[in-house]
Amino acid sequence: MTLAPNVYDAEPIPASAKDEIERLLNSGDLFRYTSSEDSPVALLEREFAEIMGAKYALAVASCSAALFLSLKALDLPRDAKVLIPAFTFGAVPSAVVHADCQPVLVEVKDNYRIDTTDFEAKIKNADAVLISHMRGHTSDMEVIKRLADARGIPLIEDAAHSLGTKWNGQNIGTIGKIGCFSFQSYKLLNSGEGGVLITDDADIIARAVIMSGAYEHNWKKHPVLQDRFAAWQNKLPLYNTRLNNLSAAIIRPQLNEIPRRVKDGRRNHDYVAAALNASPHLVVPDPLGPEVRAPDSIQFNLVDFSNAETLAFQDAAARRGVKVQVFGMSEDNARAFWNWQFIGEIPELPQTRAMLMRACDARLPARLKKAELDFVISALAGAAEDVKSPTLAYGT
Ligand SMILES: *Cc1c(COP(=O)(O)O)cnc(C)c1O
Repeated sequence: MTLAPNVYDAEPIPASAKDEIERLLNSGDLFRYTSSEDSPVALLEREFAEIMGAKYALAVASCSAALFLSLKALDLPRDAKVLIPAFTFGAVPSAVVHADCQPVLVEVKDNYRIDTTDFEAKIKNADAVLISHMRGHTSDMEVIKRLADARGIPLIEDAAHSLGTKWNGQNIGTIGKIGCFSFQSYKLLNSGEGGVLITDDADIIARAVIMSGAYEHNWKKHPVLQDRFAAWQNKLPLYNTRLNNLSAAIIRPQLNEIPRRVKDGRRNHDYVAAALNASPHLVVPDPLGPEVRAPDSIQFNLVDFSNAETLAFQDAAARRGVKVQVFGMSEDNARAFWNWQFIGEIPELPQTRAMLMRACDARLPARLKKAELDFVISALAGAAEDVKSPTLAYGT
């Protein structure tokens, strides 16, 4: 019998990180700007930009810091209206508020992607667009980019959880003007904390680098268009939200692992998704046509469940060894927009609310093996049967 898989632990950090970490510990060289060039953070930026096919990268303390700096680097007016999906992590509207902007929430459909009709209505009054590819689900970037470009307003991609996803063959995070990624432990690359932003725009990277804390002439250690930096000298605040060398040394050996983690994560997800879709009670929404996903978790909707049945499903799955969160059903959930009281008045968003009340979330790391996936499938499908047709319940 297979035991319930541990879905919380990350993969071990590649052993090749150890020599570099020991060198850094022995020298105490932890600050990215101590050495004159080629610090581990600078090397990570160069390598990440190359992998993504972007001109510039800036590594920072978190994806939230990357989102905040992106908005600041765009030089938006105070109280600028920034469209974000109503289904995202609470750190996203927080980054908007932190940048002295106002988040405007856009309805999300029951496939977890932006409702483009509501988006089109709301973009008329917007100054910028920040698309969160929540849980790696890509909204219709063709429509979103076309509408943003038509209005001449900038598009930022929150690709925190989307590293490795492709849209029409293009890397997610390179469609908008700026793409932001996370190195927090639940993401594809893990240094505990950390983030990176990428862009092809020389002015944006120059402004973001300075504001991230490249004080005095530390920007000279960024091997990109030096004249743009000089233009912004002493004109921007220093928010000091840099990445340190240890974190970079932990990430760099993981860059080679990206293709395998993406491939295994997608294989695991698609195997479980096909099995769950065989249950009349569970639906895993299809990806959009141009989208090739890089999932490390699975989301699915409960079909015709009451609130009481939804809670019973959560309990039944837990009894069978698999923890499921229903985004809208757990108290103080950071992904339920009605809990974001810091943004001011919370709008009515019935479509997103209905989705959040039935949308389930379970982790599905790339390292899981087939027997563990079968355990997850039988727990989830079995839990649905426990609730909907207890006499037919199978498996244990
Ligand atoms: C994890 C995550 C964030 C926040 O990333 P941090 O690096 O923890 O700040 C933002 N958006 C999405 C979609 C995420 O998954």
